[in-house]
Amino acid sequence: MPIAAGAVTQKGEIAAPSACEDRPGLSPSTQSIDVAIIGAGPYGLSVAAHLLDAGIDARVFGDPMAGWRHHMPKGMYLKSTFEASSLSAPERDSSLADYCAATGTPVPDDCTQCRLACFIDYGDWFQKRRVGDVGRIEIRNVAVVPNGFRLSLEDGEDVSARTVIVASDISATHTLPTNCALLPTKRYSLPRWFRTLPAFDFSRFSGRV
Ligand SMILES: Cc1cc2nc3c(=O)[nH]c(=O)nc-3n(C[C@H](O)[C@H](O)[C@H](O)COP(=O)(O)OP(=O)(O)OC[C@H]3O[C@@H](n4cnc5c(N)ncnc54)[C@H](O)[C@@H]3O)c2cc1C
Repeated sequence: MPIAAGAVTQKGEIAAPSACEDRPGLSPSTQSIDVAIIGAGPYGLSVAAHLLDAGIDARVFGDPMAGWRHHMPKGMYLKSTFEASSLSAPERDSSLADYCAATGTPVPDDCTQCRLACFIDYGDWFQKRRVGDVGRIEIRNVAVVPNGFRLSLEDGEDVSARTVIVASDISATHTLPTNCALLPTKRYSLPRWFRTLPAFDFSRFSGRV
């Protein structure tokens, strides 16, 4: 599964994470991290695995595998093949096949498809193994401050981060931090169908079945 998250600096530039320094404009008591990753699905967890392996101070926020756990038809099979459904990690021991071998989970007979429940369990296994602790809390707002960003958490706490990576998928557009919409559009891309989602109105099909 490819990584599709974007790391954007406050000037809208793609950022190479760097060491934390003092952050004027933030309260001294504000918790500071180098990289905040909003989203604990496959993309957020994969990005975190790479950053943490590189020794970067990164923290993931969100409900692990929430999109898959709460927004997919129960009992479905993945449409991506078994071989193409591994999360990205720097080590070679975190693939879907590695998960099956480590946990005694049977590999699908034809080796092409994986059940939803198996993929969710794999995501949880990957998170514990490669990412560790996740901030299971919603980010309500992302504000630009000197030298970085201030994230407002749903419990009222603030966290500062030099770089923010948004990896929160379409199923969670209603919970996207409000100021993320202010990022320069030339610095990120969205699939064409994504833009149609908020305007998609099923009422025009009413009574036609
Ligand atoms: C029916 C269906 C079938 C699919 N089948 C496949 C398939 O077979 N193979 C495949 O590769 N892809 C498939 N996809 C696509 C897949 O869902 C996405 O590509 C993938 O899940 C995106 O993962 P993600 O990490 O971006 O987000 P998700 O897994 O959706 O996770 C979103 C994360 O963001 C967090 N979040 C959201 N808002 C906030 C906030 N404000 N603060 C903190 N956290 C927040 C959530 O808590 C969660 O952790 C399918 C999609 C659908 C709808």
